[in-house]
Amino acid sequence: MNIATKPLDLKSETAALLAALGVDSAAFTGGDMASRTPVTGEVIAHLPTDSADDAKAKIDAADAAFRAWRQVPAPRRGELVRLLGEELRAHKADLGRLVSIEAGKIPSEGLGEVQEMIDICDFAVGLSRQLYGLTIATERPGHRMMESWHPLGVVGIISAFNFPVAVWSWNAALALVAGDSVVWKPSEKTPLTALACQAILKRALARFGSDAPDGLSQVLIGGRDIGEVLVDHPKVPLVSATGSTRMGREVGPRLAKRFARAVLELGGNNGGIVCPSADLDMALRAIAFGAMGTAGQRCTTLRRLFVHESVYDQLVPRLKKAYESVSVGNPLTSSSLVGPLIDKPAYDAMQKALEEAKAAGGSVTGGARVETGATDAYYVKPALVEMPAQTGPVLEETFAPILYVMKYSDFDAAIADHNAVAAGLSSSIFTLNMQEAERFLAADGSDCGIANVNIGTSGAEIGGAFGGEKETGGGRESGSDAWKAYMRRATNTINYSKALPLAQGVSFDI
Ligand code: NAD
Repeated sequence: MNIATKPLDLKSETAALLAALGVDSAAFTGGDMASRTPVTGEVIAHLPTDSADDAKAKIDAADAAFRAWRQVPAPRRGELVRLLGEELRAHKADLGRLVSIEAGKIPSEGLGEVQEMIDICDFAVGLSRQLYGLTIATERPGHRMMESWHPLGVVGIISAFNFPVAVWSWNAALALVAGDSVVWKPSEKTPLTALACQAILKRALARFGSDAPDGLSQVLIGGRDIGEVLVDHPKVPLVSATGSTRMGREVGPRLAKRFARAVLELGGNNGGIVCPSADLDMALRAIAFGAMGTAGQRCTTLRRLFVHESVYDQLVPRLKKAYESVSVGNPLTSSSLVGPLIDKPAYDAMQKALEEAKAAGGSVTGGARVETGATDAYYVKPALVEMPAQTGPVLEETFAPILYVMKYSDFDAAIADHNAVAAGLSSSIFTLNMQEAERFLAADGSDCGIANVNIGTSGAEIGGAFGGEKETGGGRESGSDAWKAYMRRATNTINYSKALPLAQGVSFDI
């Protein structure tokens, strides 16, 4: 628990990791933007930031690269992503460790994030030979109709701190096989892992050969002002933005104003329902990981739990025990399951939500700060809050480990309550009753982009489309047919007859 048990020199270790990954030291020393590790709260690097003019120049370079890259055949583009996957495999340990240092994740989650990058690269390589369009029956004789999928342009990527590398890879791997170039504005809280990813991609590009143009991948270092340059730039036809709903409310209308495409991956307020027939041992484990894993800092974190009154007294005391006993501490020097919150504002927001919950009649287990000796690091005991009803802070996403637990008696009412929040990202039901499970997945069941049965709300695989409805933004990334957002579709009609019949029987004889 005490971070002083083993002396750490995270600044030196970070510099060594970045050097091993191929990042030039000028990119993380002597700059104007301080980068902190949430593990100890100390400053570990100073990065030079991009000005608006720098950002525009990088976007111009990416646009020029796009014009060459779109001419490279898609399976060949897939070869670049295959090499990226190889480089990620080779550098998994170093990049995973850097994720743990910069985002505070426990080692298996840091490594898991890099594994997710490798998985999406594999997926995208296969996709590079499967960018299929349809052949469509036409009503006109001697005609053929088909769809072609073409590269779109520069893809802007804005990412959040909590998945500092995976979100980039979900977008970049698909964009690169689709024939697009990418410009990435990572979170200002996690810029170092972005530099590392760029260096790893550079290694893949060096092995790929000269048909990859310079400027294909760019990183913009800075705050939201630099993100706004990307959002407003006319040469960026798609921005995939991951972060809070507040951010999406600003970014979405700006993109709409210039008719650019948006993939918005915003906040979640994810719920689960535990039914009378649930396997409670399994539910307990799934709930514990879903609610406490990554210190409650996943967009898919379980935040609301509806437990049937007949099993409430069996499940909730066991859950409370798990909350009381879970190990919280330095993820780099201990085998803790719960690492730090990202910063003080996150801690303050958690305490405020807990006060509001108490005022609304909630009974709180946990939630206190865990002292580690580092004044600028914010470790907390995850909080379980028994609530009399779904009111006040339960209706909002607080990006911290708080699980609100409520009792239900009527299944339809539980589904209605589950859906009665603004966000619509992920959801779960725990039941062995087929009717309940199917109802939860049906049109009048969960209204989320992700609906699971007998597994938790978090830990999605890359093969499915990832994203959510309502204030989660409606975007889809990663697997399934999410690639279509990164390409433009042309419908082609070819007349191979000697006549010119018009559609809908229209005649226009001149
Ligand atoms: P945030 O909204 O504070 O920042 C996210 C990114 O947006 C950062 O890079 C930031 O610089 C940029 N940004 C902020 N305002 C901007 C603006 N006006 N124009 C352009 N860029 C702007 O989010 P955060 O605190 O880093 O991350 C936590 C949030 O992200 C949570 O709400 C979480 O649920 C959400 N999230 C969602 C998903 C998803 O896939 N749905 C995934 C991860 C995180």
